[in-house]
Amino acid sequence: MALAVHLAAMSSTALQDDDRRPFWRSVLRGARNRCPRCGQGRVLRDYVKVRDACAVCGQDFSGHEADDAPPYLTIFVVGHLIAVPVVEVKRRFDPPLGAQVLGWCALAIVLTILLLPVCKGALIGLQWANRMHGFAQTPDDPEDVLRS
Ligand SMILES: [Zn+2]
Repeated sequence: MALAVHLAAMSSTALQDDDRRPFWRSVLRGARNRCPRCGQGRVLRDYVKVRDACAVCGQDFSGHEADDAPPYLTIFVVGHLIAVPVVEVKRRFDPPLGAQVLGWCALAIVLTILLLPVCKGALIGLQWANRMHGFAQTPDDPEDVLRS
């Protein structure tokens, strides 16, 4: 009965803009260091520190729990980006081992530095879109109604 009442209420009132959290839009905004909610404010400051809240819309970012996921994702992405070139350069040109080590390590470090904030912002956008952790609970959240 409560579910039927809730569904009727949801269908009779249009979802507010904040209720819709498109997954890819949120992830891409986060990857661009933009607030997943408004797309204007920034998520990160000082390289990879998460701001307390969006300066434009006030979205609270304290609920994020990215933890170690951004470095893992960055390692995964960088590894896949350089794995094929490493093998192909070795196979086609067979450069000296020292040059390979220096070159690929330098490239891996540069890519990691560039992609870490991108991955962290994207993961925070993902958490926001999926209402994970501290981004979930609002008094009229449909999940709360279904649990009661
Ligand atoms: Zn915002």
